[in-house]
Amino acid sequence: MKILIVEDEPDLLAGLARGLREEEYAVDTAADGEEGLYKASNSDYDAIVLDVLLPRLDGWMVLERLREKKKTPVLMLTARDAARDRVRGLDAGADDYMAKPFDFGELLARLRALIRRSAGLTRNRILLGAVAIDTASRQVTRGGEPVPLTAREYALVEFLALHRGEVVTRSDLYEHLFDENDSTLSNLLDVHVSNIRKKLGADFIVTRRGFGYCIE
Ligand code: CA
Repeated sequence: MKILIVEDEPDLLAGLARGLREEEYAVDTAADGEEGLYKASNSDYDAIVLDVLLPRLDGWMVLERLREKKKTPVLMLTARDAARDRVRGLDAGADDYMAKPFDFGELLARLRALIRRSAGLTRNRILLGAVAIDTASRQVTRGGEPVPLTAREYALVEFLALHRGEVVTRSDLYEHLFDENDSTLSNLLDVHVSNIRKKLGADFIVTRRGFGYCIE
C-alpha cells in the first residue's frame, strides 16, 4: 500500500514517513501543495494524508483540484479542531479528518479504514478460501494456522486480496508496493510470488501471462 503525505512541517513530515514505513507502507512525501497535487495527480496512491495549511497551494485547493480527476481516499490534517473546517473538508471531498496534534495509532487505524472502504470492505478480515488475512494485525492464516510472511510478501498478498478477481499488472504492483526510497528490483516480484505460493498454495496467486497477477 502506498501513501502520499503532504505536509510542510519537516519534523512532522519525516516522523510520519518513518512511522508509516515502519508499518510497511510505501511512502512518498511532498512539502508543499503544488508538489503534493502533482504527485497525487500523477500516481495512484492508496491514500493521501493532506495538511490544510500549506505553502503554494493550500490543502483545500489541492483537494478540490484532485477531486476533478481522482477519487483517492484523502485524510486531512489541520491544526485547528474547528467544526467549520471539518465541514468544509468533508464537503470538499475529504474522506476523513484529524486535528493536530493527533495520535499516530489513531491515524493508522483511520488510514486502514479508508483503504478498506475504498476496496469495498467493511471489516479488517479478508477470507479467500482457506486463507484469512487480518489487515489490522497483518496476520495471515491458512486453515486456521498462522503463516509467517515477510513484510513485502504480506504487502503483495494484501494488495492482490483487496483487488481480488482483478488482474493486477506488474507496474501496478511496483507503483503500490515500492516508494521513492526503494530501488527498482524488477525480478524480485517473481521471487516474492514464488515464496508466497510455497506458503499459501501453488494456485493462490494466478499468473496471467503478459498481463499480471490475480487472486481469484
Ligand atoms: Ca502546515
